[in-house]
Amino acid sequence: MVHAFTCLGKNYIFDSGSGSLHECDETTRKYVAAKYENCGDLSEIPPEKQAEIEGELEPLRRSGLLFAAEPAAAPIKTDEVKALCLHICHDCNLRCRYCFADEGAYHSAREFMSPETAIKAIDFLIEKSGKRKVLEVDFFGGEPLMCLETIKKTVAYARKREKETGKKFLFTTTTNALLLDDDAIDFFNREMENVVLSLDGRKEVHDAIRKTVNGKGSFDLVIDKIKKFVRSRGDKSYYVRGTFTAKNLDFYKDVIFLAESGFDSISMEPVVTDIDDLAIKEEHLGEICSGYETLLSQYLDKYDRGEGFNFFHFNVDLEGGVCLQKKVSACGAGNEYFSVVPNGDIYPCHQFAGDKKFLMGSVYGGGLDGGIRSVFSGSSLFTRKGCEKCFAKFICSGGCAANNYHFCGDVNIPYAITCEMMKKRVECGMHALAHKKNGG
Ligand code: SF4
Ligand code: SF4
Repeated sequence: MVHAFTCLGKNYIFDSGSGSLHECDETTRKYVAAKYENCGDLSEIPPEKQAEIEGELEPLRRSGLLFAAEPAAAPIKTDEVKALCLHICHDCNLRCRYCFADEGAYHSAREFMSPETAIKAIDFLIEKSGKRKVLEVDFFGGEPLMCLETIKKTVAYARKREKETGKKFLFTTTTNALLLDDDAIDFFNREMENVVLSLDGRKEVHDAIRKTVNGKGSFDLVIDKIKKFVRSRGDKSYYVRGTFTAKNLDFYKDVIFLAESGFDSISMEPVVTDIDDLAIKEEHLGEICSGYETLLSQYLDKYDRGEGFNFFHFNVDLEGGVCLQKKVSACGAGNEYFSVVPNGDIYPCHQFAGDKKFLMGSVYGGGLDGGIRSVFSGSSLFTRKGCEKCFAKFICSGGCAANNYHFCGDVNIPYAITCEMMKKRVECGMHALAHKKNGG
């Protein structure tokens, strides 16, 4: 399918079948939108002009760069587990208002994963991974740094098993940075493939939500630690990750603040919550979408000045670098990827943790619930309602199953508000790609 759009004053046609992006003039964009997306009034364009545009589109059509056939539904592999999210700690030293994890406790007792359970999880992953060589483990919480010694023991055990099995482990930790001291920094730089550090942007924005147990803002407690970590990181991966809410719809200022604070790898996610004054609602979408364009403009200005940074949501790959399986199965939650909570119970992902309807098994044995697994393995881009008509499908991969379930009651029904933001980010990412390819 084709999608015509405008971004920062430029007009584009995107062809989802071939992944081709074409810059065009305004009339062509309007023509394609009206004729092929049923968006706009075709009668505004004179018939002779319409014929001229069709004549210009024809060579692209013939060479497979426009109106190309889309890949057909592909079967999803079900037998290999590739990644685990280890809830190393169901406790937290912050009390963020928007926390989906109930401030770390996941609506249950505050508890820590024992080293024995973490080691069992590593064995489970190796056993279920089949021929897959590279395995991923995320240390997650609550706040994982409250259990650094357990993380160290788990990593040491996995490294030992690497030698015995030929597997390769890639580790990530997500942290609020409150306990990020020199010891943790050294360990992360040695062992973590990626580290995700939570920071919401401007001090007043961060402090309004991310509070300590005493109710004080945590910005001043973490900012220097995160800066020190990033300075020490060299060229290893990290993300400074923020969350924006209805309280900071001008979130682009927070992204720019983070970039100007010296962070060059940034992500800023819309909040997932039903807390009324924080939740993103339909009436916010206009301001959010224009905020993405404002951010894009400043992001590209910085790029042109040689001060570019990596903004996760503007990274769009149209070169086919991602295989079809990945494009249609998204993160693989509940099928190739699972969460393990402190007592060893297994859930499809961290967003389902503690919901007994989604309890799939235990790292202590007994196998995985085939019924629940089949819900997730059977859910892909091709089963999600409305995705077939969406231009962003092979970039978005069908959205987040947990998000879909929590907002729409079904992993196969995408949440419209998330979709609108995703589509805008994809358009911005495509414009950024074109801008960079054209030399700025
Ligand atoms: S730091 Fe993370 S786990 Fe802790 S309260 Fe904040 S959002 Fe929740
Ligand atoms: S943006 Fe929404 S409709 Fe489009 S592919 Fe993603 S989940 Fe499906």
